[in-house]
Amino acid sequence: MSARPRKNTHAGLTDVGRIRSHNEDAILLEPPLYAVADGLGGHEAGEVASNTAIDALAGAAPRRPDAKALGRAVRAANRAVIQAAHDGLGREGMGTTLTAAVVEGGRIAVAHVGDSRAYLLHDGALERITDDHSVVADMIRQGTLTEEQSRTHPNRSVITRALGTDSNMYPDTFEVDAEPGDRLLLCSDGLTGMLPDDEIAEILDTYRDPDVAVRMLVDRANEAGGHDNVSVVVVDIEGGRGTLPTPHVPRGWVSVLVWTFAFLAVLGVAGWGTYRYAHERAYLVDEEGVVVLYRGVPGEFAGYSLRWIEAETTIPVSALDIITAQRLEAGVPVENVDAAYDLIEQYRARIEPPAEEPSPEPEPGAETDDAGAP
Ligand code: MN
Repeated sequence: MSARPRKNTHAGLTDVGRIRSHNEDAILLEPPLYAVADGLGGHEAGEVASNTAIDALAGAAPRRPDAKALGRAVRAANRAVIQAAHDGLGREGMGTTLTAAVVEGGRIAVAHVGDSRAYLLHDGALERITDDHSVVADMIRQGTLTEEQSRTHPNRSVITRALGTDSNMYPDTFEVDAEPGDRLLLCSDGLTGMLPDDEIAEILDTYRDPDVAVRMLVDRANEAGGHDNVSVVVVDIEGGRGTLPTPHVPRGWVSVLVWTFAFLAVLGVAGWGTYRYAHERAYLVDEEGVVVLYRGVPGEFAGYSLRWIEAETTIPVSALDIITAQRLEAGVPVENVDAAYDLIEQYRARIEPPAEEPSPEPEPGAETDDAGAP
């Protein structure tokens, strides 16, 4: 094989699909920055919107996994799409989704608008880490539609947030920790509308060369019908934590346990080191239906619980999406109490959108290319 970057090997592919005449998707592969955009607007305006957003993002994004800075870059991209329409490029009302990530070691910052998605593959299991901004996703969150029903729902392509329509648009932003061997996937709905998550997981788990993996994902989406443009970016997470000085914070309860025992073995002292380690950590957990913040680590260790209650929120777990709710049941470890408060703010923003957000009703014309319509 020819020279590939040593860190975070990656690949991306965008394809017109089998039905459409234009590819209105755009992708960006400029390590450590990656993105997928799915343009809407028709008459070639979608291409202008997605490419304008990608270009503006590339010029404004941070080179470190800083979610807030990445969010500001997405807002700059939003203004660029609006300006382009004013300047007569594309047309008024054109828009685009944008799902962007900055990857450094195992740290990933994400900023996201629309119904393109980011996923993490971990131990063969695919975890969706973005929430769709779409009518059907709202219905799933409200419990009035199942994931399966959403795949054939007539409004499945109507998105509730996009770049290009509202200068006060805010993206979702967050940072996650991944482990060496994990894979980050960014994709447009031309993939997820054609293939169920378990099939995407199987392909990503089987084809370890990222160039082969993206090719297989696109081919399978086309074999399934190729009703929409399909775009995929795969980034392999390699070892190391970049320049962050703190030890790796494991994901999930079991890895917390394993890490803690390893820590004890290395130190050879049960008490002081564990206490110090635990006291600097924090986690969020579902307690009687609301999100509660603890200092420490979830679970018990040799009969000791290493946790101290820090704050009880008023955020009902039932108002959050099902994946977050499931993770909260086991406890969501975070690096420290500050990071926990940031995460709480993100949860709060999901259930109480800021005042300047657009209403959750779809914008007139804010409809992506429908993956099933004739
Ligand atoms: Mn699409």
